[in-house]
Amino acid sequence: MTISQDNTIQPIEIIMRNGIDLHILPHIHRRLIVNLTCTIIILIIASCGKITPNQFEVGEELRPYVFQFFIEAERRQILVKRPNLIVSIKSLPKVTLAYGMTYYTDPIEIVIDQDFYQKNCNTDQGKLKIQFILFHEFGHAILGRSHIEANSIMNAKTVGLDYYSCSQSCRNILINELFQKRAS
Ligand SMILES: [Zn+2]
Repeated sequence: MTISQDNTIQPIEIIMRNGIDLHILPHIHRRLIVNLTCTIIILIIASCGKITPNQFEVGEELRPYVFQFFIEAERRQILVKRPNLIVSIKSLPKVTLAYGMTYYTDPIEIVIDQDFYQKNCNTDQGKLKIQFILFHEFGHAILGRSHIEANSIMNAKTVGLDYYSCSQSCRNILINELFQKRAS
């Protein structure tokens, strides 16, 4: 566009090769730009309202156990939501005597004790023990379960730990119980 001597803005006259006068084009452009800008602003505002960051971080060594948890849920046709969650291996205070811990922070944090992990990560039976502890913590963090006094993954005294790792049928009983009694 050009500015005339009286400082009014004049549209540029665009003559195309076929002779069509398109001096209306700047007006179309202006309207298009305004519309596009409005659309982009609306989209940004709308997306800010809708997108909630889903933080689901799992340490590499623990990923197979997490996958297994979701596979077990799917086998039982149970839909489990993924909360904002961080799962990692760290040293837990020895006074707790805990192999795993769930911290109800935002995001929720699950910690598997480093010594417990190192001791068990090299054998099949040990891996099942790690799975048991992780499933216990997922019971809290994902299924909303509390501790119970029974032969259950959710028993705080881990009474089912050896039973869980002894056979597939024992495991199935405990995993069935874990998912069946989840908080709705
Ligand atoms: Zn617990």
